[in-house]
Amino acid sequence: MAETPWSPRSLAVQAMGRIDPLTRAVVPPVHLATTFIRDPDNSYSSGYVYGRPDNATVRDTEAVIAMLEDAGAGALLFSSGMAAATACFMSLDPGDHVVASAVMYWALRRWLLTEATRWGLVVDFVETDDLAQVEAATRPGTTKLVWIETPSNPLWTVTDIAGAAAIAHRAGAILAVDSTCASPFHTRPLALGADIVMHAATKILNGHSDAVAGALASGRESEFWDRVRRFRAGNGAIIGPFEAYLLNRGLKTFHVRAETQARTAAALAERLAAHPLVARVLYPGLPQHPGHDVAARQMANGFGYMLSVQVNGGEAGAVATAAAVRLWKRATSLGGVESLIEHRASIEGPGTPCPADLLRLSAGLEDPDDLFRDLDEAMRHAAA
Ligand SMILES: *Cc1c(COP(=O)(O)O)cnc(C)c1O
Repeated sequence: MAETPWSPRSLAVQAMGRIDPLTRAVVPPVHLATTFIRDPDNSYSSGYVYGRPDNATVRDTEAVIAMLEDAGAGALLFSSGMAAATACFMSLDPGDHVVASAVMYWALRRWLLTEATRWGLVVDFVETDDLAQVEAATRPGTTKLVWIETPSNPLWTVTDIAGAAAIAHRAGAILAVDSTCASPFHTRPLALGADIVMHAATKILNGHSDAVAGALASGRESEFWDRVRRFRAGNGAIIGPFEAYLLNRGLKTFHVRAETQARTAAALAERLAAHPLVARVLYPGLPQHPGHDVAARQMANGFGYMLSVQVNGGEAGAVATAAAVRLWKRATSLGGVESLIEHRASIEGPGTPCPADLLRLSAGLEDPDDLFRDLDEAMRHAAA
């Protein structure tokens, strides 16, 4: 990254301070052109050839994400978080071995089990919060990618990024981190030794539940990163210019949203942990959480916007609680300004590591007292 005296927060608010050269607009424009004029000498001096690989609005937004992750080799946007994640796996070769977190975003785990294997990848799922399991599963020379998610859905398991990076690198593999739920506000995986960081930008980076987007960022140039870049250009899993614009707009308020949402999540976790109708709260910020010590070491500014609660009354109690909320919105996804509640096991289906009594909570920007009161009343209603 170019040296700058300004902090990530200042740069994100101003979309890197770029001014449109034609109009002097302070807001980056949405570029829709799919094709660009070729110079008389047959070159493309603008650097833009065709809309699939080349879009200035997308590049503007990628610059912000690369800055937030301090990614020396830059960031790449994709049409979704899944498109970003799967681009990493599809940039491997048949027969390559992958070690991945057993507790991870459910749709990606399912894709790895059903699709990645058809491409000839061999995937082992281990509890990556236990580095001894990561070490035991890696096969030097054959393991090409270690994929971790931290904190991971929906138990908020914490994996030691620096420790996992050391193990991956000793085996000759790359470490990629799905950092969606930590976000660059709390964790910088590249600075901790990871090679690639992935975000479902649909979540807190955009933050307004109105654009589906994914991102990858890499600390340095490498054969693998070049392959991912070519994969995106060729495969065409690109983000549309308008979604890239919305994401850039969302990123302007990223720091204030992330800070407030993490504070609300922490306050809810503490109050819910003392609630008589709650069996257990899962949040890395709580000292009793199994991943708390590692989280305290590798996360800054708090512990994120996601938490889960296991309520008294088992699955029926959890479903009845979700049914009774009024302010919380009963929906999947996370990271938006509106707080969401979800009975997670019913969306994940058979084989899920998610307990049946678990409700996943995404803390938004509403008044934290209102959010607590709504949950308290819903749990009392469900228990009555
Ligand atoms: C949502 C999510 C994804 C997938 O992102 P999409 O944009 O929905 O494709 C991947 N990982 C995590 C942790 C997520 O929350």
